Amino acid sequence: MRGLPVPRAALAGLERYNPEAGACPLDVSDNTSLWGPSPAAERAVRLVSAQSISRYPPADPRALCAALADYAGVTPEQVVTGCGSDDVIDCTLRAFAEPGEAVAFCAPTFSMLPTFARVNGLRPHGVPFRPDGDLDVEALLSARARITYVASPNNPTGREASARALEQLLASAEGLVLVDEAYGEFAERSWVPSLQRFPHLLITRTLSKAFGLAGLRVGYGLGAERVVAALALVRGPYKVNAVAERAALAALTEDLPWVRARTAEARDVRERLAAELRRVGLSPLPSGANFLCIPVAHAASWGARLLARGVRVRVLRALPGLGDALRIGVGPWDSMEVVLAALRAVVAEGLR
Ligand code: PMP
Repeated sequence: MRGLPVPRAALAGLERYNPEAGACPLDVSDNTSLWGPSPAAERAVRLVSAQSISRYPPADPRALCAALADYAGVTPEQVVTGCGSDDVIDCTLRAFAEPGEAVAFCAPTFSMLPTFARVNGLRPHGVPFRPDGDLDVEALLSARARITYVASPNNPTGREASARALEQLLASAEGLVLVDEAYGEFAERSWVPSLQRFPHLLITRTLSKAFGLAGLRVGYGLGAERVVAALALVRGPYKVNAVAERAALAALTEDLPWVRARTAEARDVRERLAAELRRVGLSPLPSGANFLCIPVAHAASWGARLLARGVRVRVLRALPGLGDALRIGVGPWDSMEVVLAALRAVVAEGLR
């Protein structure tokens, strides 16, 4: 009998991404939009003709790239799309680093980044954030990595990189700098205008958060034409499916006022929620995203007690430099009242 095929050594010890799931009355654990999808996208999905799904979507979704370019303020040639920004990040690692080379980042960050590095045969090189929470530019630069990854705002902390630190990184990094703006719509600052100055900057963004389309999996990358052309080669032809393409186009062409209004509301709710949490004695980190990260001791106990009250938050254990924490997505204020009531009840039980 032949032996079982052996997976590549790089896969040893990797675990599948497997967040806690299952029915729960209020799930604020995954940073998706708690306001639901863009209404125009929802209408477009209902109207997709069943006939059209027997054919492939456009191999090169030009109309979608043009709409994304208009939205972001770049040219269509500077846009590449993917099956979620996950996919664009994964393609970037494959397109711009040789096996064995390093991908540098400050930890903790988006948990899939080191996994994508490993499965692409690269070396994840995490360095700590500075004690003040900002990027440690010196440490990132000294990795001399082919790719340096910065999520701004960062997940799971919510913190935006300071302009000074990211400017310094962009001015000195030898390789590609990937700035992940999955939460860019909720932030103070986007780095898209800096694309003109830095040809080694690639920005990834998504319709999963501000547009409420996480289930459709539409992400995109913005960069210099030559960078984007390399990604288009690695990406393969049909990453954005036909239904997602229609919905994304509808959201981008008909629903930007809706997206902007929900984004503004999310930012207001975030600050209001942070103030209420401080009143309860908790200390949320400053956030430029649609979620708050709250360091606590014993996050697993908090998570279990909140779940027992019908609220699922993300439990984060032993984050480098932070310890345990809870991550709570922001949504309409009435749902935040439910979260706050559950948190207050847990505090009343004596958990801190
Ligand atoms: N980057 C960051 C920082 C994220 O938090 C996420 C999703 N949680 C992604 C990228 C991927 O998002 P998507 O694939 O839905 O675009």
